[in-house]
Amino acid sequence: MYAKVIVDVPAKQTDRPFDYIVPEPLRDWVAVGSRVGVPFGPRVLQGFVVELQESSDLSAAKLKPIEQVLDLYPPLTPELVELGRWLSETYLCPYIIALQAMVPGALKSKYERHVKLSGDPSYDDGLFRLPVYDEIIAFVQSKGSVELNALLEKYRSSGAAVKDMLSSGTLVEFQFIKGSAPAKTALTVFPPEQPLQYVEQIPARSPKQRDVLHYFADHPGPVKLSELVAQLKISASTVKGLAEKGIVAIKEVEIFRDPYAGRHFQKTSPLSLTDEQQAVFGEIKESVADQRHAVFLLQGVTGSGKTEVYLQAIQQCLDMQREAIVLVPEISLTPQMVERFKGRFGDEVAVMHSRLSQGERYDEWRKIMLKQAKVAIGARSAIFAPFSNIGLIIIDEEHETSYKQEESPKYHARDAAIARARKHRAAVVLGSATPSLESVYRTTEEGGYFRLLSMKSRVENRPLPKVNIVDMRDQLKAGNRSMFSRPLYKAIEERLHKKEQIVLLLNRRGYSTFVMCRTCGYVASCPHCDISLTYHQQAHSVRCHYCGYAEREPVVCPSCQSEHIRHFGTGTQRVEEELSKLFPGIRVIRMDMDTTTEKGSHEKWLNMFKNRQADVLLGTQMVAKGLDFPYVTLVGALAADSVLNLPDFRSAERTFQLLTQVAGRAGRHELPGEVFVQTYTPEHYSVISASHHDYAAFMREEMAMRRTGGYPPYCRLILVTFSHEQLQLLVRTAETFVSRLKESGRDVPGMDVLGPVASPLARIKDRYRFQCMIKYRGGADAARLVRQTADSLQDTVSKHKLQISVDVDPQLLM
Ligand code: ADP
Ligand code: ZN
Ligand code: ZN
Repeated sequence: MYAKVIVDVPAKQTDRPFDYIVPEPLRDWVAVGSRVGVPFGPRVLQGFVVELQESSDLSAAKLKPIEQVLDLYPPLTPELVELGRWLSETYLCPYIIALQAMVPGALKSKYERHVKLSGDPSYDDGLFRLPVYDEIIAFVQSKGSVELNALLEKYRSSGAAVKDMLSSGTLVEFQFIKGSAPAKTALTVFPPEQPLQYVEQIPARSPKQRDVLHYFADHPGPVKLSELVAQLKISASTVKGLAEKGIVAIKEVEIFRDPYAGRHFQKTSPLSLTDEQQAVFGEIKESVADQRHAVFLLQGVTGSGKTEVYLQAIQQCLDMQREAIVLVPEISLTPQMVERFKGRFGDEVAVMHSRLSQGERYDEWRKIMLKQAKVAIGARSAIFAPFSNIGLIIIDEEHETSYKQEESPKYHARDAAIARARKHRAAVVLGSATPSLESVYRTTEEGGYFRLLSMKSRVENRPLPKVNIVDMRDQLKAGNRSMFSRPLYKAIEERLHKKEQIVLLLNRRGYSTFVMCRTCGYVASCPHCDISLTYHQQAHSVRCHYCGYAEREPVVCPSCQSEHIRHFGTGTQRVEEELSKLFPGIRVIRMDMDTTTEKGSHEKWLNMFKNRQADVLLGTQMVAKGLDFPYVTLVGALAADSVLNLPDFRSAERTFQLLTQVAGRAGRHELPGEVFVQTYTPEHYSVISASHHDYAAFMREEMAMRRTGGYPPYCRLILVTFSHEQLQLLVRTAETFVSRLKESGRDVPGMDVLGPVASPLARIKDRYRFQCMIKYRGGADAARLVRQTADSLQDTVSKHKLQISVDVDPQLLM
């Protein structure tokens, strides 16, 4: 038997399967999707088996055998192996990168250097040796092989001896691939069937052992030793005594680290659906029942009860013995959200997100692998949950940019979901109050086969909040220089008085605090990137958001020595300061990248706000999404233009989405809500239509703009970015690329190559950046041409360490 293996070297030359022999003893272990260790040149590398064959085109004498199988079960299913190929072809990345993206971090290649003895350890050349040599030999011999680092750690003062033994050949080094991340185990006590039968056997002087038997009479079934000891306030030796008598058994049992252990999820039952929900659910249900592939775009206003529809559709899917995946944006994956799913489906739910530890994530993934979980809920990468019988995939807030991965493989989870669903004949539900233009387009006859479902009113006909647009130019004219307009100020005052709650949104991107000299206009900027530094209050420092460069806030201007240098702009910190100045005693929770780095902090803030320990929740986009708090009656968007002014053709769409989302946080329960949008461009259609909750009007304007401008969804884009330290070489390579691509695309209709031009972020980490954009339509195989052209520059690229990065369907153009 032969295996085709993709090895762990993400380079052009090795981006193809290599043949290996599957040796007889490994035959039952090697399958498509197995992770294996294979000899590759002088090394042993990790790889994935992508195909098994009876024969090979190469002669067996030339082939080497697979050395190791790394996991008990293959970490990838054959379907995922194929999805990997699709990812690599669609998003132009090495196959190995795609395969690795689908397994948990705990399984990524970890190489360890081990040593063993080369030959007969009793070998004696009669020469004098320090005693430590014999000690080392004895130690290595007793272990068989030892990790080099562990050996050096143990014989810390004898590093020279180890080195000497390696160079003289007494010890040999070999590379070793770490197998599966170790599963966690716990000592577990197994009771006898009739615990009370044994009470008589226990002498009266051991009342605690009798307690244990009585405990098991009330609580049949195994229990963790540590738990039993804590519950009964006894010592472990009491239980061990029982085990020695053969009454109970104590065994090492594999356990799953449960990130939600100890938390109780209130069991919820299905709600009776509203008419709108029922209509939508009916369609999805039918498709799930028929096991037909279909994609539904569910457009439901905020508060229309989309989650209940998801829950009932999942129930339907589980009833058919099939599995479901639910994707939500990372920042909406709050405990509140998890609770809604765990509350309905309990332990059948596996949760996968980046705030879990690597071990916890691995265990959630194993629950799916071992078929202990049937529903996976998680951020983008949960789309790779290793299920084998998927009936339904749900993507909530489908318009979110975080569904596109920004590093290789630069996949879009929505398209990966559709690719998987096709294979499984599963239904896909894309939910949003503000669907992306791409998805809406695919519901039209010209654009695709998506089916549009809509829910236009909130549950129980709660009204959508009234949205007021505040023209900040008028405020300035009237002499108000504060970041709070008069109407918003009054509204905040009123809410404080009524003890209701407030959400304030300030999108920091493109609108942060920078340091400027008022004498000469100098702006502190990063020495490695073309971007100004951002002021951070805690450390009185300025920092680069791209490369992490930091320095103390200057007290004199480095350019003109003036002392009139200080920070300007409106970061969330500044808003917080001003709030406490304007409303003494106001309780503010600030949520942004700086206050949510600590594990659990996100949850802590939201809980405090939920328990009404604060009046204001202030933050970046994090506060706009998914939150559902009954006492929030006021929402303020402080600077609606911050996104609108970004140089990106999607800026109007993003503005509309953000305003709609944040407005949707107000008045979701009994108390009615009100929203203020502060802007310098009140006439812009994205602001106006968001204020009227008029998605259709926005869509009409925006679609027309895209059609005239020749932008997605009327075409597709590929963004190619080149970067290098030397500007000249960079420009030359970018120009060669563009002219070659134009040449090869000459006869391809509907393909335009634009550029090269300097990227909007022209330098990051001392590397200059140039980019070119490919617009193409319909069936043009632009991706293949881009790959061929990039390959033709391979020599220059590797010689000069130039970087060409390709982004298919880019979401961010910066
Ligand atoms: P969306 O995700 O569409 O913004 P949610 O799913 O969060 O809306 O629902 C809004 C609120 O309405 C939630 O508090 C939810 O529990 C409630 N809800 C949803 N469906 C029903 C129903 N059929 N009957 C009563 N309440 C419902
Ligand atoms: Zn100056
Ligand atoms: Zn920088």
